[in-house]
Amino acid sequence: MERIGIMGGTFDPIHSGHLAMAEAALEQVELDKVLFMPSKTPPHKRHSDVTGERERAEMVQCAISYNPRFEFSDFELKRYGLTYTADTLALLQQQKPDCVWYFIMGGDSFFHVEKWYHPEEILRLSTILAVSRDGLSQEEMERQKAFLEEKYQAKIQLLSMPQMDISSTEIRSKIALGDEVCDMVPESVMTYIDEHGLYR
Ligand code: NAP
Repeated sequence: MERIGIMGGTFDPIHSGHLAMAEAALEQVELDKVLFMPSKTPPHKRHSDVTGERERAEMVQCAISYNPRFEFSDFELKRYGLTYTADTLALLQQQKPDCVWYFIMGGDSFFHVEKWYHPEEILRLSTILAVSRDGLSQEEMERQKAFLEEKYQAKIQLLSMPQMDISSTEIRSKIALGDEVCDMVPESVMTYIDEHGLYR
């Protein structure tokens, strides 16, 4: 049975933390591949503070080209309306019923997934691969894992990864201030940002 990880994100921009999470998932869970799936621009944010879908998607494609087990997916971008994770997983499950689906997420999502649209469906249709961030301790992660397992019969695996203090928000602010972000994004993404004048 094919084992596919989904790395969903706004990716504004994609950075080394996202890539490290996906690599940890590939290695520690022996996934066949990871799909990088940029989220659509929410309707209420159009023309405002989220970079266009095309640019975000192209940055993802630049960033992941080094790993043959990373694949770009426009599965959400090409849908209409709001693209909730629960719906995405249900559609993927229909299309490929023999696959085992994994959803990779950081600590913030891990602690807020209950507030997402139909969390019970997300947790039924996928195994969550969670990565700690922002100083969340192993104990706190384990406690949340036990809570979700008990309440939803969720399947959860915690990934180990060195803490990476990188966020897309910080990258955007630094670029706006003219600061270097070369240590936070792959070179190909930096070149793309420069060439397209993003975040200035
Ligand atoms: P994002 O900001 O681009 O981040 C993508 C993922 O990478 C998040 O899980 C984030 O963790 C993690 N991450 C980023 N930097 C990290 C670092 N340095 N170390 C460890 N983890 C790091 O994307 P997003 O806007 O959070 O969206 C993530 C996915 O959740 C998307 O597929 C989106 O559609 C989905 N989502 C769905 C719903 C819903 O269905 N109602 C609601 C919200 C989000 P954190 O979670 O800790 O930021």
